Amino acid sequence: KAKKHLGQHFLTDENIAKKIVEGLSFEDYNSVLEVGPGMGVLTKYLLEKPTETFVAEIDTESIDYLKLHYQKLENKHFTGDFLKINLSEFFNSQVAVIGNFPYNISSQILFKIIDNYQQIPEMVGMFQKEVAERTAAIPRTKDYGILSVLVQAYYDVKYLFTVHENVFNPPPKVKSGVIKMTRNRKEGLKGNEILFKQIVKTGFNQRRKKLSNALKPLNIPESLKNHAFMDKRAEELSVEDFINFTIEWKAAN
Ligand code: SAM
Repeated sequence: KAKKHLGQHFLTDENIAKKIVEGLSFEDYNSVLEVGPGMGVLTKYLLEKPTETFVAEIDTESIDYLKLHYQKLENKHFTGDFLKINLSEFFNSQVAVIGNFPYNISSQILFKIIDNYQQIPEMVGMFQKEVAERTAAIPRTKDYGILSVLVQAYYDVKYLFTVHENVFNPPPKVKSGVIKMTRNRKEGLKGNEILFKQIVKTGFNQRRKKLSNALKPLNIPESLKNHAFMDKRAEELSVEDFINFTIEWKAAN
């Protein structure tokens, strides 16, 4: 029986399961970590690949079921909370992440992935449609916001397809969306992560205001007060703009 507090909605459509697994490239890494395998509908197709499959599942009952049905998972299952796993301890090389994720912790999962981007070259995952759309959104759209910019600073995000409620047991309340994230910037933000997050969050906090107003709480450096971006709203800046702006800001301080 599905456990609601763990966000358990089991996918019942094999073709969709296959399609999600085929979203991964299986290139440039030897391991894949599946988050929340449940009864193994994706796991089954992952185990057909030459890449090594690992699973992280919080529900011991699911783990018992998986161990019984998939011998290949022997020594490759972590029972526990994905958010608490120290990835660099378990994997000494690159690992792709996949999952039909529990929707109650969607953004924490995304933040865990970007915090570990150096180890995670690729991710294919299902979220509630709204989160998938916000993650993949482009500038000047209503979905473009903090999540879009923070994730896209590290990953190119592609919205793959929408999944209807009725292919799950039990059906969730909302539609789902599958996205693919491909790492885009190996060198990252070069030590400017905290300032970058601050600027993005503060800028979008008052998204209807120009940045000259929205960013006031941050003590804008004098030399940036007449910057061309100050006359724009956060949603008009590309991810690249935000990164460059952060670097200029850092240099001005
Ligand atoms: N992959 C299965 C499928 O597609 O049918 C199950 C998907 S279900 C939406 C989410 C799964 O994540 C459940 O099996 C749940 O037990 C598991 N889960 C919930 N919270 C978790 C966490 N913090 N860490 C790891 N797994 C978790």
